[in-house]
Amino acid sequence: MHNSFSEQNIGFSAKNKEKTDKNNQPESFLGQNSSTQDLLDKSHTKQSIKKKRILTGDRPSGKLHLGHYVGSLQNRVKMQNSHEQYVMIADLQSLTDESFKSENILEIMKDYISVGIDPEKTTFLLQSQINSLYELTFYYMNLVTLGRLERNPTIKEEILQKGYKDSIKAGFLCYPVSQSADITGIQADVVPAGKDQIPMIEQTNEIVRKFSQQYNSNCLREAEILLSDQPKLVGIDGKSKASKSLNNAIYLSDNEKTLREKVFSMYTDPDHIHVHQPGKIEGNVVFSYLDSFYEDKEHLSELKENYKKGGLGDIKIKQILFESLRAFLTPIQNIRLQLKDEDMISILKNGTYNANIEYEKTIQEVRKSIGIYSFD
Ligand code: ATP
Ligand code: MG
Repeated sequence: MHNSFSEQNIGFSAKNKEKTDKNNQPESFLGQNSSTQDLLDKSHTKQSIKKKRILTGDRPSGKLHLGHYVGSLQNRVKMQNSHEQYVMIADLQSLTDESFKSENILEIMKDYISVGIDPEKTTFLLQSQINSLYELTFYYMNLVTLGRLERNPTIKEEILQKGYKDSIKAGFLCYPVSQSADITGIQADVVPAGKDQIPMIEQTNEIVRKFSQQYNSNCLREAEILLSDQPKLVGIDGKSKASKSLNNAIYLSDNEKTLREKVFSMYTDPDHIHVHQPGKIEGNVVFSYLDSFYEDKEHLSELKENYKKGGLGDIKIKQILFESLRAFLTPIQNIRLQLKDEDMISILKNGTYNANIEYEKTIQEVRKSIGIYSFD
């Protein structure tokens, strides 16, 4: 498999630390001049020490789609102003279910930057290049029982979904432990996530309490989950949420032709056969997407009323949705076109370097607390 990342020698090790010179980073990845607002933002970042720290991220199992935008990306664009935000590309986690594809790392970086997650405000990091995560995960494995992992509702559900039955890999069962290392290692205060992640954060905090009690140490902190108030964006088939693996999502990088095809194939109201007939809004995918992406809410209410009364056809509403999604995606895709692979790599590499410093602080404390032997 073509591995664009390893070819670029992004590998990072504690022994091979390059100096991260902020001045070496592009002033702006789009080559724009700094505005007063930029300068204000930068000085704001410098005061970020008191801001709460966020860890969030994605597995590089595919490009990001409108569901990700609604469920997490738009929130990250906001949160980077009020929090110290770390966004992890969790490539190790995609080893546990074999969805690993390293070429997606660059695509996801482009997704992030093109929607407005700003490398001046957010630190991007690549999970596999943080050495202390492997070590932390190993220590934490002694703080959880097999039974507790098997009882984790998220894990239980995924075992059923993926049909693992009796062939559950230890790596898969332990991924909540690895996730605990991700969160506690960076000393995150807040983890924005969906309801399905509640058991993961509970498990993380249990590990923190166990560690504190067992080693009489307070070097780890508990994290709180910040639940998204956004309902899940439905897939174009209307059967379940939009998702990569169900092939029912509109991607941020879909071209106009694909976008048109997807919008015009959307599930609407199967009983709405003739334009003059009254139509249903509930369960109608076109209206769900209009709810999320059509800005003129007043006009949207009128459209809904007309559709319910009869007289508004599916083709018409699909055309309206197509136009508004095109207007939404075009500027995002225009930015994407200007993004260079090497800039994405350098942003991720610098972010990983900076995040690694934070993880190192934690691992030093953890080793000391446990009493791990040191030659120094
Ligand atoms: P897969 O099919 O591989 O499970 P996915 O498309 O469901 O992939 P995930 O990587 O599982 O995407 O999702 C990561 C996060 O993105 C979720 O926890 C959620 O916050 C958000 N997300 C994904 N899909 C949606 C959606 N349809 N609506 C809202 N949020 C979503
Ligand atoms: Mg999913």
